This record gives sequence, C-alpha cells and structure tokens, in this order.
Amino acid sequence: MPLFMTQAIVIRSLNYGESDKIITFFTRDYGKLKGIAKGARRSRKRFQNALSLFSHLRLHFFDKEGMGLVRAESCDILHSFPRMKADLQKILYGNYYLELVNEMAGEREGNPEAFELLLSFLSNLEEMETQETHLRLFEIRMLSLFGYRPNMKRCHLCKKDLENLKETPTVFFSLEKGALICDRCSKIRNHLIPLSLGTARLIETISQMELQQIHRWRFTPQALSESEELLPRFIQYQLGKELKSLKVLRKMAR
Ligand SMILES: [Zn+2]
Repeated sequence: MPLFMTQAIVIRSLNYGESDKIITFFTRDYGKLKGIAKGARRSRKRFQNALSLFSHLRLHFFDKEGMGLVRAESCDILHSFPRMKADLQKILYGNYYLELVNEMAGEREGNPEAFELLLSFLSNLEEMETQETHLRLFEIRMLSLFGYRPNMKRCHLCKKDLENLKETPTVFFSLEKGALICDRCSKIRNHLIPLSLGTARLIETISQMELQQIHRWRFTPQALSESEELLPRFIQYQLGKELKSLKVLRKMAR
C-alpha cells in the first residue's frame, strides 16, 4: 500500500469505536481527506495528541484505493496554536473557519491556496486579537477560492460596469445569481440585498488581492455591517444550510 505525505490541518475529529478516531483533514495537496487513526486514543506514541482540532501537521498516510477513508499512519505537529486554544472567542472564530472549509471543500480536490489561507488565518488568531473584519475577509477569499466568487464587477442584467454606476450610491446583490444588480434593474427583481457602491467595490478588491496584503485591510463601519449582512447569507444560500458555528458566534456577540 503506498504511503503518502502532506501538510494537513485537522478540521473535524470524532471518536470511533474503543480506541480509534475518524479525522477530517484539510490537506495542502489533496484537499479534504477523511481518515482513520487506529489506536489514536490508546497509543500516545504515534499521534502524541496531535489529532486535536486546528492542529497543523505533517501527515503520513496510507491510501489503498484512492477513495474512501485513508489510514493515518503518523504525524508531526508543525503548529498547535496554544494561545488560540486558550481563548474562547478565538476558538469560536476558529470553529467557523473550520466549518466553512469543511462545507466548501470537495474531497480529494487539492486547493493549496485555500490551505494557505486557512493556515494564515489560524496563525493570525494565535498572534492577534479577534476582529470581525477577519471573518469577512475569510469569507470573501474562501468564496473566491472555492468557485463561488460574487460578481461585483458589473450589473448582471444590463452589464453596466460598477465604475459607471456612480450616479446611484446604492446597488443590490442577488443571492440567486451571486451577482450585482444596479438600481435601475432592481425594479424587476425580488429578494435583493441592498448595499453601497463602496462595499461592492471593497468585496471586489479583496476577492483578487494578494494574500500577504489582506490582513492589513480595514473596513469602514458601513462596509462591515453591509458585508456582515450579505456574505453569511450568500454562503448559506450557496451551501443550502446555516453554519452552526456562525450561529454560536453571533449568539456570543450579543
Ligand atoms: Zn442593470
């Protein structure tokens, strides 16, 4: 049976039977991978508590058929994010990142950029205070990387460019089309979410920015509240479900 190696982040962990664990990894090279870690709860030697949520690992695994569960053989911890795990607010943020990736990622579809993004946002939680802006940045980038990028460039119906819509400060977003609708075209559509031109432009800019620049990005209070209204709803629409971790996060914020 061939042995493989990749970097991985533990995004779900379930006890299985008396001594095993079923782990969902988000890996750098193979996307989402589900695996069984035999004896993980009994033998501390091979896995040394490495298989807890958020851990960033170098994972060695066997993959018999190129489908189904892989067999985790051993792993080395690269980052365990101890400061993050000691702070409830950070855990809630992290849980949301993991759930979003788990829901969006396809099994065995490598997406190294999404892996780097998740890793950088977890590192950020370890090093910095939580900021709501980060949730929105994460959502915008993950939507783009997993193929759900909102089209904020031009009106979906009349094709007028965002830059030529300056006469109206408000535009609309269609959840169904995943795209912008201008004020004039909005009259013939239902279920639209209003947003300012500035927020539409911001989401468009962040969608295509270099990863190194994105943590430095700042939102105006208006852009923050509009994108908080828009992005989670768009994600929920795309996934067909509400994310539990976001619900908890919002409850705690109140
Ligand atoms: Zn239009």
